[in-house]
Amino acid sequence: MASGICKVALDTPLRRLFDYRLPDQGKPEPGVRVRVPFGRQKLVGVVVELADSSDLPEEKLRTVIEVLDEAPLLDAPLLEFLGWASGYYHHPVGQVIAAALPKLLREGRDPHARVGHWQPTVEGVQAQAEQALRRAPRQQALLERLVTGTGASEDTLDETQPGWRAAARALARRGWIERVLLDAAEATPHPAGPRDVAPEPGEAQLAALDAIVGHLGKAGAFLLDGVTGSGKTEVYLRVVEAVLARGDSALVLCPEIGLTPQLVERFRQCFAPPIAALHSQLTDRERMAAWQQAASGQARIVIGTRSAVFAPVPGLGVIFVDEEHDPSYKQQDGGFRYSARDLAVLRAQRLGIPVVLGSATPSFESLHNVELGKFTRLGLPARAGTAVVPRVSVIDLRAHAVHRGIAVPLLQAMDRHLAAGGQVLLYLNRRGYAPTLLCTGCNWIAPCSSCDARMTVHQRSGRLACHHCGAEEPLPERCPRCGYPVQSLGHGTERVEETLAERFPGVAVERFDRDVLRTADSLEAAFDRVKAGTARILVGTQMLTKGHHFPDVTLVGVLNADQGLFSTDFRAGERLAQTLVQVAGRAGRAERPGEVLIQSQYPDHPLLQVLVTRGYAAFAASALPERAATHWPPFGRLALVRASSTKPEAALQFLRAAAGEAGPLPRSLHLRGPVPAAMLRRAGRYHAQLLVEGSQRAPLQQFLSQWLPRVEALRMPGGLRWTLDVDPLEVF
Ligand SMILES: [Zn+2]
Ligand SMILES: [Zn+2]
Repeated sequence: MASGICKVALDTPLRRLFDYRLPDQGKPEPGVRVRVPFGRQKLVGVVVELADSSDLPEEKLRTVIEVLDEAPLLDAPLLEFLGWASGYYHHPVGQVIAAALPKLLREGRDPHARVGHWQPTVEGVQAQAEQALRRAPRQQALLERLVTGTGASEDTLDETQPGWRAAARALARRGWIERVLLDAAEATPHPAGPRDVAPEPGEAQLAALDAIVGHLGKAGAFLLDGVTGSGKTEVYLRVVEAVLARGDSALVLCPEIGLTPQLVERFRQCFAPPIAALHSQLTDRERMAAWQQAASGQARIVIGTRSAVFAPVPGLGVIFVDEEHDPSYKQQDGGFRYSARDLAVLRAQRLGIPVVLGSATPSFESLHNVELGKFTRLGLPARAGTAVVPRVSVIDLRAHAVHRGIAVPLLQAMDRHLAAGGQVLLYLNRRGYAPTLLCTGCNWIAPCSSCDARMTVHQRSGRLACHHCGAEEPLPERCPRCGYPVQSLGHGTERVEETLAERFPGVAVERFDRDVLRTADSLEAAFDRVKAGTARILVGTQMLTKGHHFPDVTLVGVLNADQGLFSTDFRAGERLAQTLVQVAGRAGRAERPGEVLIQSQYPDHPLLQVLVTRGYAAFAASALPERAATHWPPFGRLALVRASSTKPEAALQFLRAAAGEAGPLPRSLHLRGPVPAAMLRRAGRYHAQLLVEGSQRAPLQQFLSQWLPRVEALRMPGGLRWTLDVDPLEVF
């Protein structure tokens, strides 16, 4: 008998651990990475448990090649939590653990390895201040980068600044930069210490604070329900203060760091210890460094987007989920489709610590959990004097003249607010110039050749683009079928921007969408122009509804609220209400009263009426019983199997076979479908889906555990792919 067995999680689609013989040197603890042979490859995996024996015959067992870590990279509670997530989402444990690790660690890199790091010398900082390198732009760019970022590692420079080495050699010869060896955590710049203290809390904030702080060290879930401007961030800051004072650490999740840089900034202003920020805009090297800072306990505040819910945070004392209703908490592509919000609640529960979900427009799931007594609701009313609730009204698009997508009453209101010195924000959830290109002769509509969808007109770039698969082609001037001139139909943000430039000459317009603001820096610059008042009208997509504060915006116009009113998706109404309230919340800060105008063809629609006259809470209270009556979540449980294939019928056939493997179902479970997806053909593939509905979680989970292995054993035709989505956000 060998010295023992370790069970290793490997990043493969197989739903199990793999047994290996331990190497002669030492015994790796669970949570340590190992390099192992796998077929003809060598893979990096994580040891999950040790065992005395294996079910495999002795001659089939292979031996660990190399133990990569001295101490566990993932501690026992985190490993168990990942195992639980793997079970709940029915996703292979090796892929779940891989999703929790930064890319470089997955590849086997040593987080403690010291790497070359370039930093400016005193002379270099001086030279940069004097702009001494104007004639050598490459050297100038590198020096500026190193001075503003307090240095950069060679890995990061390789990733972000190709060809930097020649410039670095020249700068080093001048004595303006130098190379040092640092480990990952050391190489992360630490901005200046605290400059600010959290402001004194008001009465409601104090009550919320007492409730949460009184729970430190105990499990408890709180819904911090307050409108924008009610001071949720101040509550977070005070709780973190108390958590740090106990010697613990805090994890803060937010939907998108690029859109909420103020949140990170607020924490940096208030706390001395380094903050690890984990988000998608980091280079691989920076991500590993931030992860390592969190894991080592050097950073005691970890702020991050969705995947940060898996961050290693020793001594974790509290978890916050800011804007908990935001759909970006749910991973909606790839195989591991987890909800970071739901996992945050679970992780906190398992650790016996409080979790705080914050939102002005709580998800129905969270409101239902309050009703069930699982969550405690802490309300934060708008603070008197600091924010005035905006006046909201609906413009009947059938009753008013509409000038290229903007109704006359809205144009008049814009005139009024601009004349009074206010800023105007127009929201339209449709980027591009126009959603349709139409032939005036034969009614041909430009289609995507890979999807059942229309191409969107992008006038300025002279392209047609498919917003579903990303396909692009040149914008034709004439119909390819009959040669008549073509015409753009409908309005996107690009066209609204053009309309505004004509209607409000001399008034600067700032457009916010993915086409014009591709990087965090360009977004930041746009926000700065708004803050400085150089931009007077803002027009944009969802980007404008999230997080950012526009204190001088006094008028908000919603150009089209109707897209969500008649959608077949059961969550469409909830989403629309959340978006409208969030976008309305951008107006009426400070002492300026705000006005919100919503354009609709259906001004009498009950959703709009309840929302406009009585607000989000009343809307939710009226909509939740409808969900209960139809057994949709949060009153029922769903799992969705999606399949796609390059052949038209194959996905449906596969799902029919899968449904055939279900056997007799308990009374609480139903299979719906399989049916073709709402958009049958997307990116050249044909899509179909099969919905599993259950009234309770446990029987649904039990069914999935028994059913999935049988589905996996089915013969898969070539080109077929399928995924399981537990608790899907969208089912159509
Ligand atoms: Zn034509
Ligand atoms: Zn397409």
